[in-house]
Amino acid sequence: MNIILLGPPGAGKGTQARLLVEKHGFVQLSTGDMLRAARTSGTEMGKQVAAVMDRGDLVTDEIVIGLIAEQLDTGAGAKGVIFDGFPRTLAQADALSELLTGRGARLDAVVEMRVDDEAVIRRISGRFTCDRCGEVYHDDTKRPADPEACDKCGENKFKRRADDNADSVRTRLLAYYRETSPLIGYYYAKGQLRSVDGMGEIDAVHTAIESALRP
Ligand code: ADP
Ligand code: ADP
Ligand code: ZN
Repeated sequence: MNIILLGPPGAGKGTQARLLVEKHGFVQLSTGDMLRAARTSGTEMGKQVAAVMDRGDLVTDEIVIGLIAEQLDTGAGAKGVIFDGFPRTLAQADALSELLTGRGARLDAVVEMRVDDEAVIRRISGRFTCDRCGEVYHDDTKRPADPEACDKCGENKFKRRADDNADSVRTRLLAYYRETSPLIGYYYAKGQLRSVDGMGEIDAVHTAIESALRP
């Protein structure tokens, strides 16, 4: 199955994508993670996008479409792909459709996670991740059982994102409403949209997504 998780920054897309990966063996493709990796490894592209990302604006369609195309070509997503944080513009949505068609694949569902703005701000302000495996935590809603060790891999190093600050979050929300939210209407019109309530606890949202994915 090829699935898009759609929702504002902080909605819980990454968290839910990881649960779907664990359960079904899908591959998670997160353009945000790929861009951060490019920055860490210091590639030319990584340097080019750094300031844009820290501000909370979108990087160019060309860059993220290129990243996705590259990943699809590795063939790793044979069991299914969860697109997390991509597409974020109509141009990206059209490009994805072409990329999939060109590879004899198709999009099975677009799951919109509905979360209100205050919750998004709360979720982003408390977010931190495991530096080794990327497990996503939150100061209030999801702490590691042992504060010194990741639940998943035992690592004792956690990090917070530079762009998870109040200014950047406002810019990211604006970018979401301006550029990304039109995708809801776009996929609705194509008959591919399934909306779930993203306000519940992590497990409840997971259950809602699983049932939204059943035919
Ligand atoms: P969040 O988890 O807050 O939704 P992401 O990790 O998905 O954030 O993305 C972080 C940043 O990376 C975005 O603010 C944006 O600058 C850039 N980015 C990620 N995916 C895309 C995309 N599909 N198109 C444009 N920019 C993107
Ligand atoms: P996104 O990928 O959409 O930006 P994340 O999965 O990174 O969102 O989640 C943002 C923050 O909210 C993280 O700190 C995560 O632990 C927390 N979170 C995710 N889902 C929920 C939920 N259903 N209830 C409470 N907190 C959540
Ligand atoms: Zn870990």
